[in-house]
Amino acid sequence: MNIDKLSQSIGKTIEIKGWVYRMRESKDIIFIVVRDSNDVVQCTIKSDNKDFEKAKSLTMESSVIIKGSVVEDKRAPTGFELKISSLEPVHIAERYPITKDQSPEFLMDVRHLWLRSRQLTAAMKVRHTVVGAIHKFFRDRGYYEFDPPIFQPSQCEGGATLFQVKYFDDVTYLSQSWQLYAEAAVFALEKVYDMSPTFRAERSKTSRHLAEFWMAEMEAAWMELHEVTEVAKDEVRFIIQEVLKHNKKELEILGQDVKKLEEMVKKPFPTITYTQALEILSKKESQKMEWGKDLRTIEEDLLMKHFDTPVVVTNYPKEIMAFYKPRDPKDPKTALCFDMLAPEGYGEIIGGSQRDTDIKALSESLKKMGEKPENYGWYLDLRRYGSVPHSGYGLGVERVVAWLCKLENIKDAIAFPRTQRRFKP
Ligand code: ATP
Ligand code: MG
Repeated sequence: MNIDKLSQSIGKTIEIKGWVYRMRESKDIIFIVVRDSNDVVQCTIKSDNKDFEKAKSLTMESSVIIKGSVVEDKRAPTGFELKISSLEPVHIAERYPITKDQSPEFLMDVRHLWLRSRQLTAAMKVRHTVVGAIHKFFRDRGYYEFDPPIFQPSQCEGGATLFQVKYFDDVTYLSQSWQLYAEAAVFALEKVYDMSPTFRAERSKTSRHLAEFWMAEMEAAWMELHEVTEVAKDEVRFIIQEVLKHNKKELEILGQDVKKLEEMVKKPFPTITYTQALEILSKKESQKMEWGKDLRTIEEDLLMKHFDTPVVVTNYPKEIMAFYKPRDPKDPKTALCFDMLAPEGYGEIIGGSQRDTDIKALSESLKKMGEKPENYGWYLDLRRYGSVPHSGYGLGVERVVAWLCKLENIKDAIAFPRTQRRFKP
């Protein structure tokens, strides 16, 4: 039986399978806190039990099968405990290397064991909900799942963060985004989405950047900027609702305020422009920023002090944007693009835009970046055969998990994080 179901079995005899989480021993009685993937329960065995010696042989993280009766006990941490009738060790664990107060670096070295911690188990469960919610959101709205290649011959988000890999007798790169391929797919499927591994050689050591992360992207034909920002808001709102529906317990373990999320999800998520964002920074934070520079982490955080929901920021300066983001005809210094920023210092969770359909403008932007337009011939072809307005965005799965779980570092939003300094175990 799952440990979280025990409270419904008071007075009954049941069997649980799990691992020793904590143990306390006195002469006549042993208290064993056992955990499974669902919860923990205190179990007791007395010295007159035939299995008392077996219980004594248990160590931290030993695996065990226990039969017993569930009884109410106000002193037990969960209000009831399991009185053991029989106990069978399955494997006696060697001395467990993880004890209290260990350094984050050590916990990274033994990540394969630290995954069992309540904190990481809770975060992995929230991640499971987030991923499921994203699939459900798009499938329910008629989007097709479309998988991109992961080996890609060119960059999409700037050459500086490309991972080059040997490819037989040639070289190629790991995907920085599925976007260019999704743009080909919308001519067949119109509305597509995907969640796939994404690789960026990020040299800045921030609490928001991984070298390998999962990006959930969407792309849709016939869609313009003002429409795609609304899809993004609906998606994030749906993810929060699903997490609230399935993971209240995990949010509490992680120290997240459930009420606050419940309030947030009821409010509208505002849209402002980059220029308005600079005005807020200047008027309310006395942070004067030169128009034309990208918002850095510090400016995003200062700006978000004035909001308690996610915010969409549109129309960043064209010159600092990726080559595929088109100029806004109504405000030509800016691009038809947006980011969604999360509150409480979690920064950018989504980046997206309408896509440029003008071959000349695209070629010029590519040249400015030092790229050869010939290398993007297939991509430019998409503007030659029945071109249509289209838009899309990418959501960082780990950024959203880190924010909803109130994690200090994005590394705990993924089981085995990859950063510049760490790619093991
Ligand atoms: P940032 O400015 O924070 O580096 P970006 O502008 O490079 O982000 P995009 O290229 O727009 O990000 O990617 C879309 C989304 O993917 C981002 O909004 C973010 O949620 C996520 N993302 C981007 N880079 C990383 C990374 N290195 N680690 C984890 N998530 C990332
Ligand atoms: Mg980046």
